[in-house]
Amino acid sequence: MSKTIKRVVVVGGGAAGWLTAGTIAAEHDAHLDSGIEVLLVESPDVATIGVGEGTWPTMRKTLGRLGIRETDFIRECDASFKQGTRFDGWYTGAESDRYYHPFSLPQGYLKTNLVPSWQERRGQVTFADAVCVQSHLCERGLAPKQSSTPEYAFVANYGYHLDAGKFATMLQKHCTEVLGVEHVLDHVTHINSAENGDIASLGSKQHGDIQGDLFVDCTGFSSLLLGKHFQVPFMSRKENLFIDSALAVQVPYESGNSPIESQTISTARGAGWIWDIGLSSRRGVGYVYSGDHVSDDMAESELRAYIKLSLGNDSEFAEFRKISINPGHRQEFWHRNCVAVGMSAGFLEPLEASALVMVELSAEMISEQLPVTRDTMNIVARRFNEKFRYRWDRVIDFLKLHYVLSARSDSDFWIDNRDGASIPDSLQELLTLWERHYPAPADFSQVDEVFSSASYQYVLYGMGFETLPGPATRRSLPREKADTLFKENADMTRKLLAGLPANRELINTIKTSGLRAA
Ligand SMILES: Cc1cc2nc3c(=O)[nH]c(=O)nc-3n(C[C@H](O)[C@H](O)[C@H](O)COP(=O)(O)OP(=O)(O)OC[C@H]3O[C@@H](n4cnc5c(N)ncnc54)[C@H](O)[C@@H]3O)c2cc1C
Repeated sequence: MSKTIKRVVVVGGGAAGWLTAGTIAAEHDAHLDSGIEVLLVESPDVATIGVGEGTWPTMRKTLGRLGIRETDFIRECDASFKQGTRFDGWYTGAESDRYYHPFSLPQGYLKTNLVPSWQERRGQVTFADAVCVQSHLCERGLAPKQSSTPEYAFVANYGYHLDAGKFATMLQKHCTEVLGVEHVLDHVTHINSAENGDIASLGSKQHGDIQGDLFVDCTGFSSLLLGKHFQVPFMSRKENLFIDSALAVQVPYESGNSPIESQTISTARGAGWIWDIGLSSRRGVGYVYSGDHVSDDMAESELRAYIKLSLGNDSEFAEFRKISINPGHRQEFWHRNCVAVGMSAGFLEPLEASALVMVELSAEMISEQLPVTRDTMNIVARRFNEKFRYRWDRVIDFLKLHYVLSARSDSDFWIDNRDGASIPDSLQELLTLWERHYPAPADFSQVDEVFSSASYQYVLYGMGFETLPGPATRRSLPREKADTLFKENADMTRKLLAGLPANRELINTIKTSGLRAA
């Protein structure tokens, strides 16, 4: 009879490791005698990557599923609310060039498509402002909920900005104390193979051999199990996405009561872009760039100039941390009895914060479809690989979209990004389609797309894309109905602008009084 899967061993104690261990342990009641054991081993000698501060709204569901209180999370991880991203200078590079990709869906999105109606008035109002309240809330630094809104519930959809180091510490405490995850602090030195080629156990410095039935590789860039042991090839996507370097820095607020931005700010620069993330305690800022288009020294000067705007001459003393990025992913993610999650599976770049959401989606699928026996594992593995290969390709299309739509010609970085050879065929096909068709959910094949057509709409029309209008008979909405939806959005905007607290104010209230449990 095929071996029963009882013991899951997660290697790596970064965000990927703890989120995966916690998701499996919570869903399978590992703290009870349920038959599933989860062990996490992490090296005391290899530090976690320590960046990764922007999340998607999915993180609310993930934290809720782990049984973590939102109040505790916000207090312990210096977290703040993220309602989307503001893109500065991506289209023309001019001073006034900015647009929003908010998390809330466009007005009426599930029933209709407002793009054709908005196109008729595109000279008067931006797409995001016309169809969504959230760009207005972000402009004024407002929170996405009130202090009376229960934990994880929202008035406007939101994710978080968080301190990555504190996040891993909080997850570790919760996973070990509440969810029953066994924690081993030791360096994995080698892998012992079973006769059939599976991983039988992991050799460690102090704890001998660590046995398991399923091994989850969360070892970050080293990809110890999937990459080094199984030699699953790495597929570089550098031909599509040019970013290969990052400089990261922490920037203090002027005072403990400085406003907190409601969105990630992404500012285009000569060879990449600068992220600016407001936590409750400080800002996390960094420049991701293509080393083929700018030297490290020049990149450092560009980043220093950016933080000088808020730090003044103190910017001279700021210390930058350099991180190398190899954009790409493994050819497959689940091989034999080993599945990779997080940076060990792949990483592209921080644009649109797609890394942690891929971790959440991976953990969810592994947990929901956890194979009962070794025989069924190959079937689950094949499905997992199909699903995630599709997802990586879709993420690449969406990230590349931001670069392809730019009209900037002030540096080779932006010009090279529009070279047809660097654009995936799948994205080129969509762009051709959207020249005559308005982006809609039916343009994508899966119900649980990572990026919905709503996200494409915000970026396309935020960056000046034009769809040629079809005959009036093919417009999806009569003018009066569209006007009603635009008016509903404007009315709701007025109401929320008057009723929502500032981001900082809500964070302060949560720190002192907490939020009502869901
Ligand atoms: C510049 C930059 C910005 C980013 N910004 C974002 C963002 O805004 N949003 C987002 O979603 N993501 C972002 N990411 C990605 C995000 O940081 C990662 O997805 C996330 O932190 C998960 O990392 P990880 O757990 O896979 O790897 P790591 O944090 O590197 O953890 C690896 C773990 O493996 C362990 N390990 C390694 N070797 C061994 C061994 N031999 N034995 C035992 N243990 C071992 C280490 O000790 C460590 O615990 C960013 C990444 C970069 C580089």
